[in-house]
Amino acid sequence: MLELASLTDLLAQPRRIVITTHHKPDGDAMGSSLGLYNYLIQQGHHAKVITPTDYPDFLAWLPGNEEVIIYTDNTELSAALVADAELIFCLDFNTLSRINELGELVRESEAFKIMIDHHLEPEDFDDYRHWDINACATAQLVYDFIANKLYNKAMVNKDVATCLYTGIMTDSASFRLPNTTSAVHRIAADLIDAGAVNWRIHELVYSNSSESRLRFLGHCLSEKLEVLHEFNTAIITVNEQELEKYDVITGDTEGIVNYALSITGIRLAAFIVERTDKVKLSLRSRGDFPANDICKKYFNGGGHRNAAGGVSTDSLEEVIKQFKLILPEYKKLLIQ
Ligand code: 5GP
Ligand code: MN
Repeated sequence: MLELASLTDLLAQPRRIVITTHHKPDGDAMGSSLGLYNYLIQQGHHAKVITPTDYPDFLAWLPGNEEVIIYTDNTELSAALVADAELIFCLDFNTLSRINELGELVRESEAFKIMIDHHLEPEDFDDYRHWDINACATAQLVYDFIANKLYNKAMVNKDVATCLYTGIMTDSASFRLPNTTSAVHRIAADLIDAGAVNWRIHELVYSNSSESRLRFLGHCLSEKLEVLHEFNTAIITVNEQELEKYDVITGDTEGIVNYALSITGIRLAAFIVERTDKVKLSLRSRGDFPANDICKKYFNGGGHRNAAGGVSTDSLEEVIKQFKLILPEYKKLLIQ
């Protein structure tokens, strides 16, 4: 274990640092990683963000994006950087399986590992942990780490603030989820004061769709939405041919599940999509319904109570059938 005082001492000198985050990074994964990156480079650290996979284009404007290394495109360089790092920050995930092959490289590295995260049940691979499941976003915890652990709020410049605001905004579903406390709004206000242009960030993330993405959304809502009234559940299922027809690219499916959850009375929504070698499930729920419980128990996944995900190697039809068969077990919770 690493004490905070030792970590602070380590960071007092320029270090070789790797920042990594979960595969298929979302707004919080990239916002928190690049927020920390932009903080560290101001102090002369040699920091690199390495993502296990690619990520949506609507995040490509984030400050520092051009310096990000994608593991699948640069395996040798990534492995060398991880092996040579003195510190590795693990952001927005807490089990090494969430970063694919990078996980074993991180495990083997002799670097000090610092986990900053808000997911349940962390695996024990880290040397220092800044972890709180009540945080609405990892970006909130990165801000807290900089401001209240490193006492360096003054170093939250426009770039840091822009990235962290993006993480908080996306993971709190635009300041809507129950964990968006007054403290979160105060941090958002600090970030705006530090230079984050809130309206522009909303525009870049949410009003940045391709025409085909919007048509794909229309297709999902008009043709693929199924409401299971008996269970207050709505699902949207998509096969590979549909993804091809609408030129769906990374990020295009993000958020579609929320439309299913927005129907009055719906407590559970699922977006189930067929990928090349697997079926991916995205679940969202309202109130105390444990979406992560279903993912953990049946679909090799997990997540938060109201936002969870999982995968299956069964066919799309099988997964849809299995999902529907699970619902009676949860009926009591779904119809209360
Ligand atoms: P999404 O539906 O956006 O892919 O994922 C929602 C949340 O569920 C993520 O923030 C993450 O916490 C969790 N999640 C998604 N997929 C998986 C998975 O395969 N395994 C685990 N453990 N969590 C996942
Ligand atoms: Mn997150």
